[in-house]
Amino acid sequence: MADKYFNDIKKAMLSSNPWSSHYASGFKKYIKEKIKIKQGHYCCYCLRDLLRETERNKHVEHILPKSVFPVYTFDLTNLAISCVRCNSDRKHSDISFLTKDISKFRNRWSNSVYDPKLYRFVHPNLDNISLHIERTVFTNDNRVYYRYKTRSEKGEFHYKYFDLNFYEQQSIRKNQGIKKDQESKSSRELVELLFKKYS
Ligand SMILES: [Zn+2]
Repeated sequence: MADKYFNDIKKAMLSSNPWSSHYASGFKKYIKEKIKIKQGHYCCYCLRDLLRETERNKHVEHILPKSVFPVYTFDLTNLAISCVRCNSDRKHSDISFLTKDISKFRNRWSNSVYDPKLYRFVHPNLDNISLHIERTVFTNDNRVYYRYKTRSEKGEFHYKYFDLNFYEQQSIRKNQGIKKDQESKSSRELVELLFKKYS
């Protein structure tokens, strides 16, 4: 943690909603910039490039939700940058991704919450993302398509948990629409078909 924010964070932690406290604003601004650069401006979950997105669409994400595990609210290992969809729509304050009950650490700090085995999805700061999931791109007729390749059980869980098929479908729909006879197929099958056709 940046030392100059230490006292402000201590004050923020005493308020009923530490993250929204005005004492936290300097740290939040500082850390958002720092993490964005560290992450190469990609969303930590869907791996989309957020460089051209508005600031409102880039959230400081609490991997262990701050509403459930308040003691990790300002912990760097628990912070990453994600898009609004991954942060608010998909994950929010859900903790079903944990493999074990760690509720005893809700208000008591412990390094044991940072064991990658505790997380069913790929943890942005504890796992090597590329070992589990990759977002691949290919072009056809000057049109860009995206597909996620999963490489592990964790990657597969991640793909489903964040509904990443949504983005694969979106690129297909945007480019050419979906033909009637293909609608009965599952969206993932459809993506596979399209990729097979063009790769
Ligand atoms: Zn995202």
